[in-house]
Amino acid sequence: MAQLINGKQISADMRAEMAEECRKLQAEKGITPGLAVIIVGEDPASQVYVRNKKKACEEIGFYSETYELPAETSQKQLEGLVDELNANPKIHGILVQLPLPAHLDSNAILLHIDPKKDVDAFHPTNVGHIMIGDYTFLPCTPAGVMELLKRSGVSVSGKNCVVVGRSNIVGKPQAMLLLQANGTVTIAHSKTPDLGAVTRTADVLVVAVGRAGMITGDMVKEGAVVIDVGMNRNAEGKLCGDVDFASVEPKVSFITPVPGGVGPMTITMLMRNTLTAAERYGKN
Ligand code: NDP
Repeated sequence: MAQLINGKQISADMRAEMAEECRKLQAEKGITPGLAVIIVGEDPASQVYVRNKKKACEEIGFYSETYELPAETSQKQLEGLVDELNANPKIHGILVQLPLPAHLDSNAILLHIDPKKDVDAFHPTNVGHIMIGDYTFLPCTPAGVMELLKRSGVSVSGKNCVVVGRSNIVGKPQAMLLLQANGTVTIAHSKTPDLGAVTRTADVLVVAVGRAGMITGDMVKEGAVVIDVGMNRNAEGKLCGDVDFASVEPKVSFITPVPGGVGPMTITMLMRNTLTAAERYGKN
């Protein structure tokens, strides 16, 4: 039977550690970490994420501002707000909730955020820093996966690691972080001809596709570590991952459940980046 990697517990432990760090920063330097979250339009899923980010800030002791802008907000107005927040000393992290309405150019907005306040780590400057292994911020979901592995005592060094999915938000940076941790890394995607043949080579398998239950028991190696990033709704509307838990769990050594695995870590790592930004405030 596999050991469950409890993302909820690890996330709670990290938040408690950050609350302590936050109190220290306030006491010693008079700095309260501040996060600004901007949401444009009324996408219900995005509204839930934004509320959860605000709640996490309150829980840890951060200052937060939420900007809920109408769907018809123009590029210029949004960039103007980002400029103001770039200059605001109370704000150390800026997050623009994606996706933005179709008339807005997301890449141009992300480029507008000061890289020192880019707590999502999507700015090309920060992406470049990750590539060369000299970074301040890591993208939240892949960083959350690395933290889950570390805190579960799983070493990646020298292991065969397979990442399924190559998005800029999860798959690609995930592969880079596993490589930096000395894994031997393979990236699979929709054009990989025999996916099972690739995933069966994995000592550590990270799946980030967005297709419910696509990784089945016959596609994993005995004793592998399986991390399921996927968040899907099944036919009954229940949240489920990309891994078919029932057939995979009996074969592997560690596995993340969905919900309660990677999910809780993403916002926690956003908080980690905000705290780091506040600690580094004023430095190069
Ligand atoms: P994207 O849709 O951007 O990327 C999906 C990737 O999966 C693509 O690289 C695609 O390949 C690949 N893919 C699609 N079909 C197959 C297939 N049949 N076989 C192999 N690879 C395939 O998704 P994201 O990376 O943004 O997200 C992936 C999943 O993770 C989603 O379920 C999302 O909800 C979840 N997620 C969860 C988070 C969390 O906090 N837990 C945070 C972010 C995402 P190709 O490039 O060739 O098209």
